[in-house]
Amino acid sequence: MVAGEPMRNIQSGKLVQSGSEVWARVLGQLKIEVEETAYRSFLRPLRVERVEAGELLVAAPTAFMRNWVATNYADRVLELWRQHDPAVDRVSVIVDPDVTAAARPVPLVEVPVNVEPAATPAESGDDRGYFSAALDPRFTFENFIVGKPNELAHAAARRVAETCATPGHPVPFNPLFLYGGVGLGKTHLMHAIAWYIRMQAPTRKVIYLSAEKFMYQFIRALRYRSIMDFKEQFRSVDLLMIDDVQFISGKDSTQEEFFHTFNALVDQNRQIVISADKSPSDLEGLEERMRSRLGWGLAADIHPTTYELRLGILESKAEQCGLKVPQKVLEFLAHKIVSNVRELEGALNRIAAQAQLIGRDITLETAHDLMQDLLRAGERRVTIDEIQKRVAEHFNIKMAEMTSARRARLVARPRQVAMYLAKQLTARSLPEIGRKFGGRDHTTVMHAVRKVEELVAADRNFAEDVELLRRSLQS
Ligand code: ADP
Ligand code: MG
Repeated sequence: MVAGEPMRNIQSGKLVQSGSEVWARVLGQLKIEVEETAYRSFLRPLRVERVEAGELLVAAPTAFMRNWVATNYADRVLELWRQHDPAVDRVSVIVDPDVTAAARPVPLVEVPVNVEPAATPAESGDDRGYFSAALDPRFTFENFIVGKPNELAHAAARRVAETCATPGHPVPFNPLFLYGGVGLGKTHLMHAIAWYIRMQAPTRKVIYLSAEKFMYQFIRALRYRSIMDFKEQFRSVDLLMIDDVQFISGKDSTQEEFFHTFNALVDQNRQIVISADKSPSDLEGLEERMRSRLGWGLAADIHPTTYELRLGILESKAEQCGLKVPQKVLEFLAHKIVSNVRELEGALNRIAAQAQLIGRDITLETAHDLMQDLLRAGERRVTIDEIQKRVAEHFNIKMAEMTSARRARLVARPRQVAMYLAKQLTARSLPEIGRKFGGRDHTTVMHAVRKVEELVAADRNFAEDVELLRRSLQS
């Protein structure tokens, strides 16, 4: 059957809807589930070739996109399609270069690249095309407290920054692979390298990107047949830093391309810095050659913080903020908050805010009161199941809706809230959370988190609901 012709619903035997109608519905749902950039890059350009003998044939413009879609979206496409047409039991993605020509062009300005807003004079001249994410001004070497758990990573990062700022120097180790758990300073160190080079050698070209952004850029370049430009951009950099590469693992075609870019840069003696939540050998779903290549340089792990390091960080942050915090309070916090540095900062911020608001001195007692929530949260491990259950109860929907494919707002919104709370209250990664919510993609979780953040900011009642849920889960 050719797309566009009516098809038969096997069960009812009735003429229901045409292939293109079904496709429009499938796309409509995907649009809600998948992050916008991914939707525009991978899904919107697809075309239904035909539906034949239980097989749905979808065409993508390039082999790369075909692989990407087949790996990441085909299962979901099938599920959604079957909701309208259960006669189909498999999906194949094929390549048809004509699809590009027919696809609606997406203007390049829509590309969400955060080109550094305040470019230094050296950069503003010729690098308008550079893909680089904004750097956090607080993430410098000066603000990084060194202790046993991070001294190797810190020394290696400094070494990379210094050699990179000295043109002509051979790179010390390629790649520098920084790894460790959430909130232990990987991103901080990468930004610090970039800041250092910006100050010391502003003409050096540095690109810092999350692995996900890197992928989007790449796919987009393929789509616009501007892959040569893309390669040109990346090959003319002195230092390429890719953050959180665990998000690339498992996506074969992407790895392939990443591997090539990587090799080209290494061959030209350009420095590469990579971060991930696990060591190269523990990264799941990574091709063997990629794994070994990542291990060629120096793999420096950042260990969980020690009491001494936490105390050091707190002292430095308090001083930076001009806060007078009694040593006893800092020790109390360093002792109690062991999870990661981000939470340590959060605690200090709360104490600072409280002190400013009520104009009272910070004492151990006030700190203790204020930290009750946080401490309880730290002591109690909330599970995703609990979150789903509590949220479902709160919004009066069935627990099964947490994993169902239903997109009605009535159930989709609570589901998003549950994903948001899962991200906030557990240490689970986005992909893990996605799996717990009926095998959704991590970009769906990301979208949910953002959506809830938006709503919390815009809608007071909604914000109260979310806060209520958070408290009840933490108590
Ligand atoms: P990761 O990328 O490993 O998840 P980040 O680099 O985002 O972690 O760090 C989380 C927060 O903790 C940031 O605000 C960062 O500045 C802070 N931080 C982490 N380690 C240190 C450190 N050693 N000294 C000072 N601040 C730190
Ligand atoms: Mg990070």
